[in-house]
Amino acid sequence: MDKILVFGHKNPDTDTICSAIVMEEIQNKMGLNVEAVRLGEINKETEYVLNYFNVKVPRLIEKVDEGQEVMLVDHNEFNQSVDGIENAKITMVIDHHKINNFSTKEPLMYYAEPIGCTATAIYKLCIVNNEEISKKMAELMLSAIISDTLLFKSPTTTPWDKKAAEELAKIAEIDIESFGLEMLKAGTNLDEYSEEQLINIDAKKFEKNGVNYIIAQVNTVSIEDVLKRQQEIEKAINKCIEENKLDLFIFTITDILNCNSEIIALGNRIDIVEKEYKLENNRAYLEGVVSRKKQLAPMIEKNI
Ligand code: MG
Ligand code: MG
Ligand code: MG
Repeated sequence: MDKILVFGHKNPDTDTICSAIVMEEIQNKMGLNVEAVRLGEINKETEYVLNYFNVKVPRLIEKVDEGQEVMLVDHNEFNQSVDGIENAKITMVIDHHKINNFSTKEPLMYYAEPIGCTATAIYKLCIVNNEEISKKMAELMLSAIISDTLLFKSPTTTPWDKKAAEELAKIAEIDIESFGLEMLKAGTNLDEYSEEQLINIDAKKFEKNGVNYIIAQVNTVSIEDVLKRQQEIEKAINKCIEENKLDLFIFTITDILNCNSEIIALGNRIDIVEKEYKLENNRAYLEGVVSRKKQLAPMIEKNI
């Protein structure tokens, strides 16, 4: 039987990695031959989670061959997916993002909900299908939910995310608050990253009306600490803009304890940002903004 690959988006986050591993377990229990893989280096938070629960890091792939069967989690946009996705055979998508730039040649299973995390969608599917949730699945899904909802502080959080997390915490025998805080803090350890890596940890590419832009995000417990590197960060951003022919790059520094963000915006279309925020020294402070998906990205998109 041909192997099916399951993976999340490029610049993987904890939801992307954990949801892929959980789907591998579910699908293989049903007799398929599925392997969870990743499209980039895992971040410090995900590394903490996989170490903590003693789970192997999925294999890295760079492209897929024509006709390769794949399942997508935590994304659908082709420009956030693997190289070669246009000619792959997508059999399943489980996601919690808007559907954009997506089409297939054949029927598929597509499940998406406007909830805080892909793992919550998987949890709901498990309930509907009477699927047994193993301890390992619970540990990974719980981690994904904590990550995507910033311990339920993100406005993307829904009652389903909380309910799923509470049920999963029982199976995993984990204290959500203490484990969650340690896990999120592990992801704020940015010192070892070069500026070039920093702007790529969680960068997502978007396109609208011919405007190509990236919104990147890092989590921190001190915005000030990251801003000490502003000059070098800007150099890295400008290089990225040039190499990728971007019109705009928004680097978002999110304070996960106080739930605010500071952005650094560069490119020939910063006018899009300035319709909402006055930039000073290429920066703006965004009170109460922590979610790219629900707050920052829609605001940018409506101005393009
Ligand atoms: Mg994600
Ligand atoms: Mg997600
Ligand atoms: Mg995220």
